[in-house]
Amino acid sequence: MQGLMMDFQLTIPSLLRRAEQLFPNKSIVTRLPDKSVHRHSYKEFAVRTRRLAVALKQLGVRPGDRVATLCWNHYQHLEAYFGIPSMGGVLHTLNLRLSPDDLEYIVNHADDQVILVDQVLWPLFEKFRSKVHPRHVIVIPNGGQPIPAGALNYEELLAGADPSQYEPYDHDENAAAAMCYTSGTTGRPKGVVYSHRSIVLHSMVCAFVDGMGIREADVVLPVVPMFHVNAWGLPFTCTMVGTTQVFPGPHLDAASLLQLFDNEKVTITAGVPTIWLGILNALDADPHKYNLSRLRHMVVGGSAAPRAMIAGFEQRHNLHVLHAWGMTETSPLGTICTLTSEVAQLDEEQKLDYRAKQGIPSVLVEMRARGDEGIIPNDGVSMGELEVRGPWIASSYYHNDEPDNKFTDDGWFRTGDIVTIDALGYMEIRDRSKDVIKSGGEWISSVLLEGAIMGHPAVAEAAVFAIPSEKWMERPMACVVLKQGQTTTADEIRKFLEPKFAKFQLPDAIEFVNEIPKTSVGKFKKSVLRERYKDYKVA
Ligand code: ADP
Repeated sequence: MQGLMMDFQLTIPSLLRRAEQLFPNKSIVTRLPDKSVHRHSYKEFAVRTRRLAVALKQLGVRPGDRVATLCWNHYQHLEAYFGIPSMGGVLHTLNLRLSPDDLEYIVNHADDQVILVDQVLWPLFEKFRSKVHPRHVIVIPNGGQPIPAGALNYEELLAGADPSQYEPYDHDENAAAAMCYTSGTTGRPKGVVYSHRSIVLHSMVCAFVDGMGIREADVVLPVVPMFHVNAWGLPFTCTMVGTTQVFPGPHLDAASLLQLFDNEKVTITAGVPTIWLGILNALDADPHKYNLSRLRHMVVGGSAAPRAMIAGFEQRHNLHVLHAWGMTETSPLGTICTLTSEVAQLDEEQKLDYRAKQGIPSVLVEMRARGDEGIIPNDGVSMGELEVRGPWIASSYYHNDEPDNKFTDDGWFRTGDIVTIDALGYMEIRDRSKDVIKSGGEWISSVLLEGAIMGHPAVAEAAVFAIPSEKWMERPMACVVLKQGQTTTADEIRKFLEPKFAKFQLPDAIEFVNEIPKTSVGKFKKSVLRERYKDYKVA
């Protein structure tokens, strides 16, 4: 017997309709490249989005065509997030921090038919423009500067389109709505294709109280770029629930962000730990400069949020970090570290230990971890590679020519993350499989060491990675950036670590550096460090 409910399609046009009908007066705020602030209402957003959908159709974009964006976080990018899928196109966000070579590869691999480019990013586009072949290039203008020859003006295009001609593409929830390439730390970047259905379900679960807890009354500022896994889905989730949305544009330094949190009374924000480490330093230096009393939580993910950072925000500034884990392939929400009532009864130190874990799987995501001898027990000690499945987890890569073993025969995605899972279901990342340090027969977790070193009061950032060792195969080494005006020594850091680690786990070498190389999305680039120190001889 079948159920007798409507087969209502879960599509992005349905989110847009809701936003326009219920929240016409809510605001979308953007800080522009010149730091002036642009504000408009959801009503204006919805009408402009329908104009974009109509304009794209008039340019010949057909359902399934990829429309790329090379843009910062701002209101026109939000229009693209909705306008492109709402007419059947596939929103393809390009990571503007990738090399021109990678961008060329990705645009050609995705066969992008149209590219929307921020005028401030035109110099980057110029670097690969001659090697890609979109039918149209649309420039989002910056002030009154003339649009480059051969490109269309986004604002003129919208002005010339009639929003009443809009026809929503909402009959196939399984149609592609968006795509995003992995950053290709191993091999070529790979395309992940999200469907309307996966985005709608993901948005609903992100909004859950036990998810990111996003409500209509919130003011949400995604620091995470809109080119990094759809800004973790926040533009879709926020539009669905009708929050005020604040976009920071290109200014992502700590002072500019803090000022914007204060000015716009932001309640929820999200980004990678490197951003928050900078913000914590700025707050420690001048704790009363900004009024952040409305900030309910900061969602931190992308790499491990150090325990000391979570504690620093909480204890010194009364600010709450919500730790989450995900990947491009998981839309990205996989786990989130809300505390269950059982964990909430623990003492403060134990609770902090939990909050530094990556958390429990979100609703509809299932996880397990596999060691050498099969699925590992959930005992918080055994380590294995995390596998996940769920309605917003990739089932394959787009036109992948390279062999991959990322998908198991029984339908799970292999994440490449080495984890423990405890009896309460909390997952903790110990490493990415390629970053694990194999010393003798033992595995040493670079993530745990980094978190502990970053707990030292003089340390701003620390990356731990393997260096070759004749005797042990690999040994851990740490590169450490000190906070401004602070000093310490390698010996002092080792002493600081000793109570928390077995002797064999302590780094053999600790180097003080000015900066740790970062990936295009702000994670430590350990491959560069491994290469730089591959001949390092331990004293
Ligand atoms: P890339 O890191 O290659 O740019 P993704 O943004 O998809 O691509 O990153 C996914 C990876 O980031 C995960 O596999 C995991 O290793 C890491 N990651 C994400 N969130 C966390 C977290 N909270 N703690 C530790 N690692 C994380």
